[in-house]
Amino acid sequence: MKDFSLKKVIQWLGMVLRCPVCGHKYDVKNTRVLDSERDEFYNEAWALIHSDCGKCKSSVMFNLEIHGPEVFSVGMVTDLTASDGQKFNRLSPIQANDVLAIHQELKTFEGDFVSSFDK
Ligand SMILES: [Zn+2]
Repeated sequence: MKDFSLKKVIQWLGMVLRCPVCGHKYDVKNTRVLDSERDEFYNEAWALIHSDCGKCKSSVMFNLEIHGPEVFSVGMVTDLTASDGQKFNRLSPIQANDVLAIHQELKTFEGDFVSSFDK
């Protein structure tokens, strides 16, 4: 991607985005790129970004997509740390069988977490 710099995009985001909880401006120092991809042929890029608010300490993760001159971003408040975000980003999505297994387990769950995790 010609003249593309994810660092510049992060700096721009730091100037325009504010914490959805307290309204404090994001600080680039507290912002990390957890994952990213570039496609120079189509002039596109994608990044998963995590940022901690310097004032209220809440966290936000957002998905950033760049298609030529257009930038799209969707964010959400999260209780995940940046390392949690990296960990769960690498895992496979939850499947229907995972949900069914939890449902079956909860049918007989009597409140003892220690014995449940020993199984
Ligand atoms: Zn905040």
